Amino acid sequence: MSDAPPAAPAADDLDAFRRHGHELIDWVADYLGGAERYPVLPSVAPGDVRRALPASAPEQGETYAAILDDFERVLVPALTHWNHPGFFGYFAITASAPGVLAELLSAALNQQAMLWRTSPAATELEEVALGWLRQLLGLPEAFEGVIYDTASISTLHALAAAREAIAPEVREHGMQALGGRALRVYGSEQAHSSVEKAVILLGLGQASLVKVPCDHEFRMRPELLRAAIETDRRAGAIPMAVVATVGTTSTTSVDPVAAIAEICDEQRLWLHVDAAYAGVTAMLPSCRSRFAGWEAASSIVVNPHKWLFTPFDLSAFYCRRMDVVRQAFSLVPPYLRASDGARNLMDTGVQLGRRFRALKLWMVLRHFGASGIRAHLEEHMRLARLFAGWVDAHPDMERLAPVPFSVVCFRAVPTQGPAAAGAPGSRWPDDAALDQLNERLLEAVNASGEVFLSSTRLHGRLVLRLAVGHLRTTEAHVTRAWQRVGEALAALTDEPAP
Ligand code: PLP
Repeated sequence: MSDAPPAAPAADDLDAFRRHGHELIDWVADYLGGAERYPVLPSVAPGDVRRALPASAPEQGETYAAILDDFERVLVPALTHWNHPGFFGYFAITASAPGVLAELLSAALNQQAMLWRTSPAATELEEVALGWLRQLLGLPEAFEGVIYDTASISTLHALAAAREAIAPEVREHGMQALGGRALRVYGSEQAHSSVEKAVILLGLGQASLVKVPCDHEFRMRPELLRAAIETDRRAGAIPMAVVATVGTTSTTSVDPVAAIAEICDEQRLWLHVDAAYAGVTAMLPSCRSRFAGWEAASSIVVNPHKWLFTPFDLSAFYCRRMDVVRQAFSLVPPYLRASDGARNLMDTGVQLGRRFRALKLWMVLRHFGASGIRAHLEEHMRLARLFAGWVDAHPDMERLAPVPFSVVCFRAVPTQGPAAAGAPGSRWPDDAALDQLNERLLEAVNASGEVFLSSTRLHGRLVLRLAVGHLRTTEAHVTRAWQRVGEALAALTDEPAP
């Protein structure tokens, strides 16, 4: 037997990387410019992808050619194309070219910005890029920023800081330190589910979230917020924080932040503003008034990965009291001590290692410039208003919410002939039947592969949602969406009655 050590496996083959890397950049450029050649939604069933791939990892390494073949053959046909300009579901997003290049660099550089010294560039670029964004949003310097992956995590940190501010003993001793007194968080009944998840995760309990009723335009009613806080205080609970939303998920409604901020000031409560989707429009003079009062918040979340052309994921968290966030999370084991006196990103949250996300925000802001970004946002809002106008003018359509930004909520309500809801012999006698009609309408529109719309429920009714937000979406795409809706509705209402 030989004593020779086993041959070390070959390191990465950089020649092959270079060759395939160039090809992949071509592929990505074709993809970004031509995502329309794919259906927005794939025609696959659950389990198809899994079954098409081997059950175990290969024992021997494979070539890039073989791997990329499978990427094209198995994965691409099973992708939902968020980069398709006909993607109007949820909130439409964009992986813009500068953002994609930044992600490539970020992966190659593999920075772990937990401490300043483990990546001075990533640590300081985060401060710079978030400072630029803060200025564009018109927020005062008192807001320090940090990047998390998603708004859900930003909101979790906001509420953890709120808890630290009002009940610091919980960090050491847990909720039992409060002697049975419950903490309370308030959000509107339209607030995002991430608020509820945060209170679950923080151990406050789901019941600690008070869902304040909204007015007819889905905005929190401040007088009911005040009443809820006072009732809770009388019952011995400890009001802790309010989450106001600018741009709620279903309808993009805007809570009256100024009135809510006044109540928070008076009641000494942490105000967190969830502007995950709509926050970027604070850059627009035409939208500024919707943000009145948000500068009084303790914390704010804005997601560049939603409507700032930044590839998923990147959530910007701004806080007036980052010292409290640090107090809530800072924990430095001996192996991470540093004596340079610099600020370390690991102190501002749960996560130790931090990705170099700032690079993509920085590159996106530089590539488009503030005026380029403003122009795209204005255009998206114009397209949404155009679509809303078509809905409003159609006798068989109903719009269910105002359109402050780029989302239109609507449904079909046939009023003519045999399709008339409530008419004798109608196939749509009530809201349940109309829900079914709209469900089928949505399915038919999405089956076209040209556009994708999602849905929500408002006042218990099924509502279709069109969200404009992709960089390459034009009036032609919105027009096509409207045509598909019209054709699908005509086909459904022309069907003979069952
Ligand atoms: N807040 C609002 C208003 C949202 O619309 C969403 C998602 O759509 C979120 C929070 C959660 O965002 P994320 O996926 O970044 O956690």
